[in-house]
Amino acid sequence: MSSVFVVNAGSSSLKYQLVDVASGAALASGLVERIGEARSPARHVAGDVRSEREVEAGDHEAAFAHVLAAFAEHGPALDDAQVVAVGHRVVQGGDRFDAAVVIDDDVVAAITDVAPLAPLHNPANLLGITAARAAFPTLPHVAVFDTAFHRTLPRAAWRYAIDRAVADEHQVRKYGFHGTSHQFVARRTAELLGRPLEQTRTVVLHLGNGASACAVDGGRSVETSMGLTPLAGLVMGTRSGDVDPGVLIHLHRVAGMSIDDLDRLLNQRSGLLGLTGTGDLRDVVRAAGAGDDHAVEALEVLAHRLRSTIGAYLAVLGGADAIAFTAGVGENSAPVRAAALAGLEGLGIELDAARNESGPAERRISTDASRVAVWVVPTAEELEIARQSAAVVEAARPPAILDP
Ligand code: ADP
Repeated sequence: MSSVFVVNAGSSSLKYQLVDVASGAALASGLVERIGEARSPARHVAGDVRSEREVEAGDHEAAFAHVLAAFAEHGPALDDAQVVAVGHRVVQGGDRFDAAVVIDDDVVAAITDVAPLAPLHNPANLLGITAARAAFPTLPHVAVFDTAFHRTLPRAAWRYAIDRAVADEHQVRKYGFHGTSHQFVARRTAELLGRPLEQTRTVVLHLGNGASACAVDGGRSVETSMGLTPLAGLVMGTRSGDVDPGVLIHLHRVAGMSIDDLDRLLNQRSGLLGLTGTGDLRDVVRAAGAGDDHAVEALEVLAHRLRSTIGAYLAVLGGADAIAFTAGVGENSAPVRAAALAGLEGLGIELDAARNESGPAERRISTDASRVAVWVVPTAEELEIARQSAAVVEAARPPAILDP
C-alpha cells in the first residue's frame, strides 16, 4: 500500500485528504476553517470516526499541528500509511508548468512569481506548502496546478486579441482552471465509453460554485472557458462569467466604480447571487419552482450560456463523442442538465429524462440512440492530485542499482 497526503490550502482554510493511491480510497479527510480567528472549527473523518471540534489555529502551521494531532488521536496512523508524497493543489502555474512537479525552492519561487495572476489563491497555496513542508520535512512535496492541463491549448485559443506587446509584458493570456478535474473526468469518460482516450472527444462541464467548460481532444485540453482568471466563461454562484469588457469601462465612467468596486461586483456580487439574491443553486431552483421570476430568469441565463458554450465546443472539436457533467451542480442538478441540453437533438444530443432524474452517481443520462453520449461523472480532484503526485515522485526516484 502507498498513500499520498493531499493538501488544498485557502487563505483561511486547510483541507486535506489521505488517499490510498492504488484503490483511490480516502483513508482520512478533514478541514480546518477560519484559520487566524480566535476559534477555528476542525473536522477529521477516518472510516467511521468523525471528530468535530474547535481549535486554536493562528496560522497554517498551527492548523497543521492540529491535523497531525487528529491523526494521532483518531487514526489512521501516518507511520503505517506508507505516505510517499504530499500533493498540493496550486491554482496558478503560469506558462511554466505543464505537469505536476516536485517542489523545491525554485518551484516555490516560480509559484510566488505568478502570484499576481492569482492573488487570492497562490499566496494561500504557498502558506499550505510552507506549513506542510515543516510538518513533513522528510517527504517529497508535489505541486499539482489547476492550469497545467490547459497548457496544450493552441495559441488560437489562448491568445487574446489585444495589443501583443501589452499582453506579453504582463503575461495576459488565457490560462484556464479546474484542469485537474477536467483531466480526471475526461479520462474517466473515455474509460466509461470503452474508447482509447487518444481517440475520444469530450466536452467536460465542471459546474460547482466556480464553473468551467473544457473541450478535450484525445486527452488534450483544446479550449476552456476560464481565462487569465477564474472569472471568465459560465455563470457561477457569485461570479459573472463572461461580460463585455466594455461594461467595466462604462461602470467606471458613469457610476464612478473603482477597480476594487468592480472586482467585488464581478467576483462576489454577480452570477446567481447577483441575479437572485442567493448563490446556492438549490435555493434558486426552489425559488423558480415557487414562481419567483428573477430565479426563473437566472436559470434561463445560466442554461443559455451553457448551451452556447456546448455548441461552440462541438464546433471546436468537430463533433464530440461525449458530454460529461461534474462537480456540485453538474453531478446533482437534473434541471440544470436538462435545461443546458434542451433543444440540442439536432446536434445528436438526446437526454433520457428518467436517467437524468435518478440513478447511480456515475451514469449515462442520454438515450441509447443519442449520437453524443451524455454522462454524469463525479469528479475526484484529490484522487487525481494523489495519482499525479505519486507518479511524479516515482519518476523522480533514482534508478535502483542492480547487483551485477
Ligand atoms: P466548489 O466549486 O466550491 O467546489 P461544489 O462543486 O461543491 O463547489 O458545488 C457547489 C454547488 O453545488 C452549490 O451551488 C450547490 O447548490 C450545488 N449543489 C450541491 N448539491 C446539490 C444538489 N443536490 N442539487 C443541486 N445543486 C447542488
